[in-house]
Amino acid sequence: MELIRTAVAFRRALDQARAGGAVVGFVPTMGALHEGHASLIRRARDECGAVAVSIFVNPLQFGTNEGFGDYPRDEERDLARAAELGVDVVFAPPVEEMFPVGEALPTAQPGPVGDRLEGASRPGHFRGVLTAVARLFDLAGPCRAYFGEKDAQQLYLVRRMAAGRALPVEVVPCPTVREPDGLARSSRNALLTPEQREAAGCLFLALSEAAEAARSGERDAGKLVAVMAREIGATPVARLDYAAVVDEETFEEVRRIDGKARALVAAWFGTIRLIDNLALPIP
Ligand code: AMP
Repeated sequence: MELIRTAVAFRRALDQARAGGAVVGFVPTMGALHEGHASLIRRARDECGAVAVSIFVNPLQFGTNEGFGDYPRDEERDLARAAELGVDVVFAPPVEEMFPVGEALPTAQPGPVGDRLEGASRPGHFRGVLTAVARLFDLAGPCRAYFGEKDAQQLYLVRRMAAGRALPVEVVPCPTVREPDGLARSSRNALLTPEQREAAGCLFLALSEAAEAARSGERDAGKLVAVMAREIGATPVARLDYAAVVDEETFEEVRRIDGKARALVAAWFGTIRLIDNLALPIP
């Protein structure tokens, strides 16, 4: 496994892999690798001749007081895990390689969807995400890029950006990996106290109740939102940020479920904010 710190060397390594006939699989991450990341890497390993993982805690996607400094970082452990999973290239750049001072980088505008839900709670978040992903896609070149459904709004915006810019990148969505109680794996889970960790199970419970109501024929999105808000609201340590139902194709909030829809929740556990989502059964 090759560890690369510079943009030039990353571009060259993937160009070389393609010149040798490999399809490149690319998994962008912020490190603190867990089973969710591992599932993306395994999928890339199964489907591609060469696998690259980037590890970069992107300062642009954190607002002030959003825990950029506290975000878990353990490069040594991540490198060992990546090697175990058969990764060929790890790109772990310093910030100046990602965002060179004085260089005009392509600007990324998420559009109206970027201002809703996660974007409403975290102004500027998706502009920061897309700026970093656009830079990574530019350096990586033609590839299959693996993203988790756990971050559904991010996945939606990244896919739209790749399509809109006609980038030679196929974005591949991967299912959310969960703990036994349903809690989605997240690097932030490590920051929860035992009490908060137990309470965090309410996110998946709320989503499951909404999915169950939809399965039983409930089409009124407002009622599903109320079900989710009630479940999270009834959990002592949890503080609801939002519960919503969106159309999969547009990521617009819907009043009624007529086609593919997804339920989403976000809640605070102390100072830690967790998100999750679940596709709803199709009517
Ligand atoms: P992050 O390091 O949190 O930026 O995540 C890197 C990638 O891993 C993103 O595409 C995430 O959606 C994905 N990911 C994070 N958690 C999970 C999970 N529990 N299951 C599947 N994918 C995940």
